[in-house]
Amino acid sequence: MKRVSIFGATGSIGQNTIDLIARARQDYQIVALSGAGNITQLAEDARRLNAEVAITAHDHLLEDLTTALAGSAVEAAAGEQALVEAAARPADWVMSAIVGAAGLAPGLKALEQGSTLALANKESLVCAGALMLRTAKKHGARLLPVDSEHSAVFQALVGEDISAVERVIITASGGAFRDWPLEDLKNATLDEASNHPNWDMGQRITIDSASMFNKALELIETREYFGVNPKQIEVLVHPESLIHAMVGFKDGALMAHVGPPDMRHAIGYALHWPERRELPVERLDLARIGQLTFRAPDEIRWPALRLAREVMQTGGLSGAVFNAAKETALDGFIAGRIGFPDMAAVVEEVLTKLSGQSGHIDATMTLDNVAKIDHLARQEAQSVISRRAG
Ligand code: NDP
Ligand code: MG
Repeated sequence: MKRVSIFGATGSIGQNTIDLIARARQDYQIVALSGAGNITQLAEDARRLNAEVAITAHDHLLEDLTTALAGSAVEAAAGEQALVEAAARPADWVMSAIVGAAGLAPGLKALEQGSTLALANKESLVCAGALMLRTAKKHGARLLPVDSEHSAVFQALVGEDISAVERVIITASGGAFRDWPLEDLKNATLDEASNHPNWDMGQRITIDSASMFNKALELIETREYFGVNPKQIEVLVHPESLIHAMVGFKDGALMAHVGPPDMRHAIGYALHWPERRELPVERLDLARIGQLTFRAPDEIRWPALRLAREVMQTGGLSGAVFNAAKETALDGFIAGRIGFPDMAAVVEEVLTKLSGQSGHIDATMTLDNVAKIDHLARQEAQSVISRRAG
């Protein structure tokens, strides 16, 4: 039996992971399930899957969780520290599917235990890629990509030598505003930004798809995960979202990964790796689909892509600044304090300000320093938002 923990179990990736695991219940022992605000779902899944412990990220919800688990053998816990402690429990396979930088500390702890970490939480690689990889290496832990593009690249690289890779192309649907006139973006509403044309995902990543901040994070994630030069990584707009990524080799071959937009493929690949097992995803009928289309990304519509390239150039802790400023700007947009295009402007301003100050992005990459700069970048972003909103 595989001992499995799922962080972010109540979210979109978490629920898809549970769907796969529940289909072969006898193969898994559930160690920890975590959530934040959705106590009903967390308690229901923890009971159903007989988890050892259920954790909510919110301290004030411990009582609700304890009540919801009353009469079961599942332990209840709450808070950031409890998440890290749960990640220290021995597990063979850990899903990292918390949204945001909050996923970093539990993910690192799981790697320190030598667990295989299935990484949906791209923010941890963006904030602290070198630290994640170093920790995995030190403890003999394996990091497996769950982001669909990175799973696709990983699969295209099976049996290949990374030195034969010329370029990596990650695709982007273009999100909700792909075809909107540029001048309308400033009036885009939260509902409009939260509606993805192809994928059914959590709200935050859906809005990040419309702004391309999601692809921006994925550019950095690609660099960290595969160790390729930023110049070798391309973004290609592909509205149908059927090709998830392509790897170009030095002999001119392009290996494309084609599949339905269903995260259970990438999750299942990481769950069963290095084997392939049957998965409940749609089989594509390419004759019926007929054609696939592609276009170059427009860096005026999506300034996040340019910012990600600057972050890769700067290096150090600038990824943590970028992510924290982005998360805060996204909160500002969700709260109706700033408009849609303001998100990129806020992030750019915070990056410029903190990059110019020594002792910040050039500090050593430790969990503490990442947390410090994350905090500072959020404060800076808040003040930029207040100024713009005010
Ligand atoms: P959701 O918003 O659907 O779920 C987020 C999960 O994190 C929930 O379990 C939520 O709990 C929990 N959570 C929220 N805030 C905190 C916090 N501060 N501390 C601890 N836990 C918290 O997100 P997704 O499932 O869409 O995304 C999860 C991760 O996977 C993200 O990093 C995303 O970028 C990545 N990803 C997602 C894809 C997708 O298809 N959805 C595709 C590729 C990557 P609760 O709901 O109980 O409040
Ligand atoms: Mg992706």
